Amino acid sequence: MQFTELGTTGIRVSKICFGSLTTSRLQKNFSAEEAAELFAYAIKEHQINFFDTAELYGNYAHFRALLNRVKRREFVLSTKCYAYDRKTAQESLERALTEVGTDYLDLMMLHEQESEHTLRGHREAIAYFLEQKQKGVIRGIGYSTHFVRGVKAASTIPSMDVIHPLINRRGIGIVDGERMEMEEAIHEQIARGIGCYLMKPLGGGHLLKEYPQAISYLHEEFPDAVIAIGMQSKTEVDLNVRSIVDRTWTQSEQERFHFQEKKLKIADWCVGCGHCVEACQQNALGLRDGKAVVLDQSLCVRCGYCAKACKEFCIKVV
Ligand code: SF4
Ligand code: SF4
Repeated sequence: MQFTELGTTGIRVSKICFGSLTTSRLQKNFSAEEAAELFAYAIKEHQINFFDTAELYGNYAHFRALLNRVKRREFVLSTKCYAYDRKTAQESLERALTEVGTDYLDLMMLHEQESEHTLRGHREAIAYFLEQKQKGVIRGIGYSTHFVRGVKAASTIPSMDVIHPLINRRGIGIVDGERMEMEEAIHEQIARGIGCYLMKPLGGGHLLKEYPQAISYLHEEFPDAVIAIGMQSKTEVDLNVRSIVDRTWTQSEQERFHFQEKKLKIADWCVGCGHCVEACQQNALGLRDGKAVVLDQSLCVRCGYCAKACKEFCIKVV
């Protein structure tokens, strides 16, 4: 396994970050034990030490169960939340610490940021997280974004240590610009010393058929960057290590391997409130005959933001 330091945080992480949205209730819905077994396999067999989660995913119990299998210092945990003031920040931090069963978080990230304006709306939460960083409860602060403007915003918020931006070879999911603009913005932040781990290398599954090319693109464009990727089986962990780290995955193996395609599904008990449609940054959803429908699966990057908005728990990726 290759390791790198995330910006200037002093946090040493593996080249692969295990994105745990895939194991959560929004996707595979693993039990805590099933997820912990897979995470422990990634750690013990492949030295993957970096895990990404979010309050939205509702899977802190997966990491609590992992602590029965490995020591806390054997993995780096990043979580994301929507806290905007001191109270919500405190609640989010305490929820993560309590539910995981740890006394520190490696990274506390603000979820789904669009620009310096949305980040300003979280300034009280950022101030609280900074205090906690000084106390050693949090090791680094950052945010995730699908926006070029979001990446650029790191230049205006000096307290940010890490960004988690979306990028892939076709630019799928970038909300406000082209792939080249996103590349430029990410390079600028890396040059400033901001830690960076990249999300959606396969565009939420749309690039599975061109998987080797999608990974090669990231190697060429961002040779030192950490790549976050969702995994649901030991086979997928092995495959990603071979492709991203060892670089031994061949085109002929690619042609023989059956990648399981995933789709967003909306249950028929949908009440047509439209909150999911508003939450989708990709314009993939709409309302038809009083129910939410996926207008275009090719636009959906499986981010789960619509699922967060649905109070009826109608939305899943299967
Ligand atoms: S439909 Fe849902 S999962 Fe797909 S891009 Fe929109 S918000 Fe994300
Ligand atoms: S938020 Fe849920 S209930 Fe409302 S329209 Fe979307 S899927 Fe239906």
